[in-house]
Amino acid sequence: MIQLTIDQQEIGVPPGTTLLAAARQLGLDIPALCSREGCEPENACMLCLVKRTDSGRLVPACSTLAEEGMRVESETEEVREVRRTGLELLLSDHLGDCAAPCQNTCPAHMDIPRMLGQIAAGKLTEAIATVKQDIAMPAVLGRVCPEVCERACRRAAVDSPAAICQLKRYVADVDLATERPYLPPCAPASGKRVAIVGSGPTGLAAAYHLLQAGHACTVLERTDRPGGSLRDFISLGQLPADVLDAEIALIGQLGATFRLATTVGLDIVVDALWSDYDAILLAVGPLKLAGREILSLAEPGKTQADKAGPGQKKLAGAKPGRTSQPDDRLPVDPHTYQLAMADSAGSRRLFAAGKAVRPYHLAIQSIAAGKEVAERIDCFLRGRPMTGWQRPFSVHIGPMQCDELVPLMTGVPDTARVEPAAGPKMGMNDEEARLEAERCLHCDCGKQEGCLLRKYADALGANPNRFHGERRLLVRQQQPGDVIFEPGKCILCGLCVQIANRAREPLGLTYIGRGFDVRIAAPFDQSVSAGLQRTARACAEACPTGALALRTECGHANACCAGCRGQ
Ligand code: SF4
Ligand code: SF4
Ligand code: SF4
Repeated sequence: MIQLTIDQQEIGVPPGTTLLAAARQLGLDIPALCSREGCEPENACMLCLVKRTDSGRLVPACSTLAEEGMRVESETEEVREVRRTGLELLLSDHLGDCAAPCQNTCPAHMDIPRMLGQIAAGKLTEAIATVKQDIAMPAVLGRVCPEVCERACRRAAVDSPAAICQLKRYVADVDLATERPYLPPCAPASGKRVAIVGSGPTGLAAAYHLLQAGHACTVLERTDRPGGSLRDFISLGQLPADVLDAEIALIGQLGATFRLATTVGLDIVVDALWSDYDAILLAVGPLKLAGREILSLAEPGKTQADKAGPGQKKLAGAKPGRTSQPDDRLPVDPHTYQLAMADSAGSRRLFAAGKAVRPYHLAIQSIAAGKEVAERIDCFLRGRPMTGWQRPFSVHIGPMQCDELVPLMTGVPDTARVEPAAGPKMGMNDEEARLEAERCLHCDCGKQEGCLLRKYADALGANPNRFHGERRLLVRQQQPGDVIFEPGKCILCGLCVQIANRAREPLGLTYIGRGFDVRIAAPFDQSVSAGLQRTARACAEACPTGALALRTECGHANACCAGCRGQ
């Protein structure tokens, strides 16, 4: 056995073992995009560099064999910086959208192309689960949202955007009409209790997500009906009251307790809130409408309670003694949504979100804020760092030329946007929804979850715009057969070439061109599908990026439902 040390950890490995294999035995995650068991190292990505401390040289871990007494560093800032720069060079001419523009634009980041693929495939149970992963009240939003995501839809450049909002409403309406509408799974009870002051869109969404995380939620509402500002849409004629009531009832079925006609500081003593709950969320809407509740929490003892509670410190931003002005907002920590005041034990258990904090104009923004603050509160209650949801590393193509949309339209119906025959207030029927969902171009990347380039760019904090390469034209080859090839995402790792060669593909793949113009293609101007008759699946699985993907049951590159993933 050969003895060596990697990051101060000693290990013995048989002769012929690479540094990469030895590091992996130690549980170290060295990025290596072009290395795969059974394939020869190509030294193409050069992300697996490690430092030999004897010579001070950086060497590729995938092709350097372990030597007796070798000492190697793999996790120093110097090594990370070299890897980061290598990744940024790979990304300089990378051409893809990790997530679709519609999803990036949706304030709740709903996976819109997945929902549309599921509707097109008639998988409505999966579709409502996709929607309700991010949006607590889709039947409401499908009626009142001004379609912000549709403004970013790439289909608009072809004719008109996909009718995302109508389709979200369709999925939610179909679900509500069933005997047992969808309820998301909830984690085991955590034993923690959260008081949510305010039952508008932020408070309801926060309860919806906190309940799924296993926390008990009590929603306190000043009026005798929950819904807050969402009820304004009823008077405007945009929202039937029974739709709002049905979606609120589902949050109740999920486990929320509603205490209606309850004003904090008047009907419930502030001290009781502090003593009975592990966290308190102020989702009270604009402060001018919620002065009493804010003041009571800010100064316990002034409005109702006789004895001072643990919340002694005045809330920063609240102005006791006068009605809050319309532009008053509570200053919260922008990352954690916590207010500055702490309880007697020094714990900052008071959170605020929604219009009390930011000048939201759209219900979807308030609902997204409820989801975000719920993630922070969940971290707080579990004693985890309060990072909440972090936007994953993403690359974006930006505006596309008309020609580039042509390959995206392959297999997509060239039909005009479907409007509900019964009128927009009635919504779509099954056939209309299916036809409209099929219009989606599925602009997102088929490897969002498995892409190693994205994974390591995220881990190393790579900046995709540090180096500017020439913007290539988007090409998506969707030839007959199973393979979808996007050369703009290829990092020339060579794994597909090796796998095809080893399987003795009649045609296979090869490198074509020289220098910066080198690319992967099938010989003799044949299609990539023709080159990968036996090994399409193996190559797509081995490809470290979304360059090679397999067409799914729905006909596009993304595994939009369980059926597509072969489950
Ligand atoms: S290949 Fe990876 S980095 Fe590129 S668009 Fe797809 S997921 Fe994003
Ligand atoms: S075509 Fe589909 S995936 Fe692309 S932006 Fe529009 S809805 Fe989203
Ligand atoms: S297409 Fe082939 S060469 Fe390009 S990244 Fe994928 S596996 Fe590597």
